[in-house]
Amino acid sequence: MRVAVFNTKAYDRRFLSEANARFGHDLTFLEPRLDVLTAPLAAGHEAVCVFVNDGVDGTVLEALAKVGVRLVALRCAGFNNVDLAAAERLGIAVVRVPAYSPHAVAEFTVGLLLAVDRQIPRAWARVRENNFALDGLIGRNLHGRTVGVVGTGKIGALVARVLRAGFGCTVLASDLHADPELEAIGVRYVPRDELLRTAEIVTLHCPLTPETHRLIDAKVIAEARDGLVIVNTSRGALIDTAALIDGLKARKVRAVALDVYEQEADLFFEDLSNEIIADDQFQRLLTFPNVLVTGHQAFLTEEALSAIAETTLASIADFEAGRPLANRVDAALIAPAR
Ligand code: NAD
Repeated sequence: MRVAVFNTKAYDRRFLSEANARFGHDLTFLEPRLDVLTAPLAAGHEAVCVFVNDGVDGTVLEALAKVGVRLVALRCAGFNNVDLAAAERLGIAVVRVPAYSPHAVAEFTVGLLLAVDRQIPRAWARVRENNFALDGLIGRNLHGRTVGVVGTGKIGALVARVLRAGFGCTVLASDLHADPELEAIGVRYVPRDELLRTAEIVTLHCPLTPETHRLIDAKVIAEARDGLVIVNTSRGALIDTAALIDGLKARKVRAVALDVYEQEADLFFEDLSNEIIADDQFQRLLTFPNVLVTGHQAFLTEEALSAIAETTLASIADFEAGRPLANRVDAALIAPAR
């Protein structure tokens, strides 16, 4: 099948090309992100393949439909960037990669938590300057602390397991469905507002939906325990950034580690080191010594990139052959409010 692959980096091209040796699709690698201006580049292709920050809204989908695109293949798990209702109306199928390597994201999440709470990047910067003083680097044990895991799907369950069984944390969880295997190791499901009021560390692993949009806001921060640590490797808009900055300034929030950011589409995945960043909120976040930000790289392992390529190309082959689409995304996947 002819596929226009938008927003590609060298690593996308490498892993997709390697996997495609088994599928034989006709892949056109394009550097630009998919948007209303670049959508016409998909002319002559029945499918487009996109990533987390390609904006697949109604206007873009209409432009894609006009040039004959019938399939949007997301090479990621999240699908909040796609207008699913518009896709359905236009007869465009949407597939994603629901699980490529939850371990990649879960391991990175725990790494970020340790890094920010034990101040590893600050310590490394000091040592490089031959500054071996330890003042200001006091951390806290994870053992015995109360961690709240919001969303215990594939990634959240692994994080909960590592924190509970590995570090001996008290783990609270919130999800639409409890996972009995986690309950068996002592993870306790509580309503989300109770989790957010009780936890010393909160790590976010639910999808971004209208219901979870800015689930951490000024009210939640005000009602949280003093010294809250927040880790977000899910989607940036789960957190109200302005409220987070206020919480940091008020010292209510002890530390924050983010792999995702509300307005990341304007920043992440590009080398902007020669640019002036106009996003004042993002720049303010970077000034805090107790904030650690990475550029949406939790997924970036060899295993995950291979799995993403394999699943994406297999879904495209299924679509071409008229087989059922195991990884199809539709509006029913968006969880109801809770
Ligand atoms: P998943 O679908 O397996 O799990 C999501 C869980 O969230 C499910 O158990 C679901 O029931 C639960 N959930 C849904 N609505 C909820 C709500 N309102 N409150 C609490 N829980 C709710 O997904 P996953 O593979 O574990 O991925 C989780 C998220 O991680 C994805 O949505 C994606 O946004 C993000 N992600 C980020 C990266 C990265 O590189 N940073 C990579 C992959 C995925």
